[in-house]
Amino acid sequence: AKSHQRSSFSYFTVDMGVEIRERVRMMHALRAAFENERLFVVYQPQIDMRTERAVGAEALLRWKTEDGQFVPPDQFIPIAEYSGLIVDIGEWVLRSACFELIELHQLGFTDFKMAVNVSQAQFSHPLFLESLKRALHDTKAPAHCVELEITESMAMTDPELLIQTLFQIKQLGAQVSIDDFGTGFSSLSHLQKLNVDKLKIDRAFVNEISDKSGEGSIAKMIVQLSQSLNIKVIAEGVETEHQADTLMSFGCHLAQGYLYARPLTKEDLRSWLAKK
Ligand code: C2E
Ligand code: CA
Ligand code: CA
Ligand code: CA
Repeated sequence: AKSHQRSSFSYFTVDMGVEIRERVRMMHALRAAFENERLFVVYQPQIDMRTERAVGAEALLRWKTEDGQFVPPDQFIPIAEYSGLIVDIGEWVLRSACFELIELHQLGFTDFKMAVNVSQAQFSHPLFLESLKRALHDTKAPAHCVELEITESMAMTDPELLIQTLFQIKQLGAQVSIDDFGTGFSSLSHLQKLNVDKLKIDRAFVNEISDKSGEGSIAKMIVQLSQSLNIKVIAEGVETEHQADTLMSFGCHLAQGYLYARPLTKEDLRSWLAKK
């Protein structure tokens, strides 16, 4: 039994060695990409389904390698988080998004909102509030048009720190929404205390609204929850008219998804908005 244990141990070490080496390789590549400006931000419009007009956009990070390949965020964001790179990259995304917001306001899309993803490592960094303050100050982006998307799981890690930080974000005038809502289970009891502005229904629950099977009972429940807490709600990953109609019948009027627009470069966003 002993030798078996030892051999299985070394087996896992080799395996982990490969994985760690791959992660380290990707981390170096990501740092180089950041330094060489091969990261860029795209913007996915957020729509009021009643009028089909864009009321804002979500900033999403993209990485295009030298040979023209795109690395999916689901692959490199965890590496950025794990290595701490997300703190600098995230601040850069925030500033880029705020600059774009101001440009859009100046182009006449007044009151346009900008949502930016903020990861745990960034949010719990002692200088996060400072960097938010600086971004708002330097870009002159109106705080009430800037919305930070945090995930439900953050409430689990350190609820006290979260409540504190949210309070101070509120003081600055920025908005906060809970991303991927419904996938984390945890924060339901904290939700009232957290005092957030918006819930974002995870794509998985929107997906359940289909002609064949589900009627979207979880999405419906989240809309009702938001109504009883008197906070806004938006659905992500809306791909069909049927999903849009169903969500509206639940009382959810904001949406984001391929039905309306894919994430767009800032140039494409501007021409897309101009055509609307
Ligand atoms: P997320 O915040 O939940 O972003 C929504 C994701 O759904 C985006 O994927 C978007 O392109 C995709 N999406 C939007 N509409 C549809 C649709 O109708 N159908 C389908 N199938 N997908 C749709 P993306 O851009 O690949 O980003 C993946 C995740 O990476 C994001 O999920 C977010 O967690 C993370 N991420 C992206 N940019 C940033 C960033 O700047 N900072 C941080 N911390 N995380 C980011
Ligand atoms: Ca998001
Ligand atoms: Ca989401
Ligand atoms: Ca998601």
